[in-house]
Amino acid sequence: MKVATYRIGGERRVGVVDERRGTVAAFDLPLSEAEAGLGALIARTSASVSLSPTPLSEVRLEAPIPRPRRNVFCVGKNYHEHAKEFASSGFDSSAAAGVTPKFPIVFSKTPESVVAHRDAVRIDRSVTQAVDYEAELGVIIGKGGRGIDPSKALDHVWGYTIINDVTARDLQGRHSQWLIGKSQDTFCPMGPWAVTKDEIDLADTQIRCWINGELRQDANTRDLIFDVPTIIATIAAGVTLIPGDVIATGTPAGVGIGFTPPKYLAPGDVARIEIQGIGVLENEFREHRA
Ligand code: MG
Repeated sequence: MKVATYRIGGERRVGVVDERRGTVAAFDLPLSEAEAGLGALIARTSASVSLSPTPLSEVRLEAPIPRPRRNVFCVGKNYHEHAKEFASSGFDSSAAAGVTPKFPIVFSKTPESVVAHRDAVRIDRSVTQAVDYEAELGVIIGKGGRGIDPSKALDHVWGYTIINDVTARDLQGRHSQWLIGKSQDTFCPMGPWAVTKDEIDLADTQIRCWINGELRQDANTRDLIFDVPTIIATIAAGVTLIPGDVIATGTPAGVGIGFTPPKYLAPGDVARIEIQGIGVLENEFREHRA
């Protein structure tokens, strides 16, 4: 099942997407609950769907969880080939952890950085000269918990979405901690919707990213250094996960800093990320004017 958060007539709704018909059917949720987006559905034991679907062309998609309750957890250097390209880029303030980390590198992005499919991502030249893209599988937690065993970790997953972990490389390198470089306003495109976990085979899901139509990233979740259960168990070892938490699982090789010279994003560039079984997340980068 594909579940979208969207706006229609000024109201936020959560609904089931039928891609073949090009429609979305709203869940029967009070508007006050729907403000939490997909989080409203996760919090409920049941919800029925309206019988009159709306064409997707008549709604404005929002991020599945438009404003997460807290920071989006992220994993760095989690694909072997990307770990190599990042280690040799000169921006790797985690270099001491080695090219292939022994333990997951976990950082976060602020909730306010989340934007939707087709929203503009802002490039503010007064702050950064090195904006880069990172196509990633996003995990959405359905059942909270602490001290989660890897063998039980997937029981805690509601489903998956696509995240572009947009990064200001110069800030990431300069400040050692990655938070500022990862949390610039609009730097967390998420969507176009979420899918329930039964739709994704974690052992074989293709992730691709194109910039202006040029294929840059093309990898498979089977190449993750730390798999989804390991990531969940690592975070939840001492941090209680809550329903609606989002975890970005890391990006494969082919980001802008993997090229010589680096291929940073410029105003007008369009990043298109496709994850098999989910869909396409597309965002244009635009110059920010204060
Ligand atoms: Mg990333």
